[in-house]
Amino acid sequence: MTQLLVATHNKGKTKEIQSILADVGCTVLSLDEISQNILEPKETGTTYEENALIKAKIAGDVTQILTIADDSGLEVGALPGQLGVYSARYGANDGDRITKLLTAMKEKTNRTAAFVSCIVLYDPKTQEHQTFMGKIEGTLATEKKGEGGFGFDPLFVPQGYTKTFAELGSGEKNTISHRARALSKLKVYLSTKNRTS
Ligand code: IMP
Repeated sequence: MTQLLVATHNKGKTKEIQSILADVGCTVLSLDEISQNILEPKETGTTYEENALIKAKIAGDVTQILTIADDSGLEVGALPGQLGVYSARYGANDGDRITKLLTAMKEKTNRTAAFVSCIVLYDPKTQEHQTFMGKIEGTLATEKKGEGGFGFDPLFVPQGYTKTFAELGSGEKNTISHRARALSKLKVYLSTKNRTS
């Protein structure tokens, strides 16, 4: 394996994935580097895995490169079914989503939340895929804090910490996050596969 494509145009996700996979022993390409013309498909699935596979398959089939895609979301205890797999549709952009979530959480005493990431690895040569899940529990802050990361990072305080992901910065986030946990399972899979193939 010499190349691995990350099927997203989301710069925040791409940066994190490339940083976490820096030691994986191959070139990790972003969709922006390959082509602006491969658009991210509509997320028509009802699970993280279905959506990640839709994204990985389109990019992998067009480029014929071994591809990974991430589908992720924020599960909010007090708002069941409202974000989760549908988190990206909660507002028009990161700012909108944060404002809407802070408003919806105003009177809530249950501030528990969890980030979930599903990474699908898709091989266009065999059309087979593997799935790796990661999750981190935490709570929602009552106001935005920090400048790092992307998405809901300024609101999410991981369990055992007092700072948001946006305050902790990428070094810390990328060792404990939902995405880091899913990608560490991918790394184990790839290293075992490389040893046996
Ligand atoms: P999707 O995976 O493209 O469907 O988007 C997932 C949604 O969850 C987006 O709105 C992201 O902003 C949010 N999200 C996913 N992972 C993270 C993260 O690590 N930090 C902050 N927000 C995230």
